Amino acid sequence: MFTIIVLVALGFGLLCCCASFCIFCKYRPKPVNAIDDENLIGDRVHDPVAAQRIMEQQNKQKLTLIGKQLPRKKYSNTAYKENQESCAICVEEFLPATMIRETPCKHIFHDHCVMKWVETKLTAPDCPFCRAEISINAR
Ligand SMILES: [Zn+2]
Ligand SMILES: [Zn+2]
Repeated sequence: MFTIIVLVALGFGLLCCCASFCIFCKYRPKPVNAIDDENLIGDRVHDPVAAQRIMEQQNKQKLTLIGKQLPRKKYSNTAYKENQESCAICVEEFLPATMIRETPCKHIFHDHCVMKWVETKLTAPDCPFCRAEISINAR
């Protein structure tokens, strides 16, 4: 007789647990939508970061390659007296001993000016002055 009472009590208790668990599941404060959104945001954060890192790496390599095509020199007005006394990008005159870069088409620009320019045109770099293509492959 005692065992039956215990079993019934246990059964009742189990039923109560199940019921309250079901109710808890159904009415818990966090709606299912919120969880989905969280997962979505999580994916959005994780993947693009990795993708962006890879792209930044590739861009850096490209920029290095482009930089190799643009030899860095010190400006001296005897070497470039033709028509190039100022930088076509910032329109400032070259000062003696300023660091410049020369494009394959023989145009010269401030080092930082031309590097900033090609950084925005990594897929198809060109000369800011005559728009001649700057090949990424070694000469
Ligand atoms: Zn400049
Ligand atoms: Zn040029």
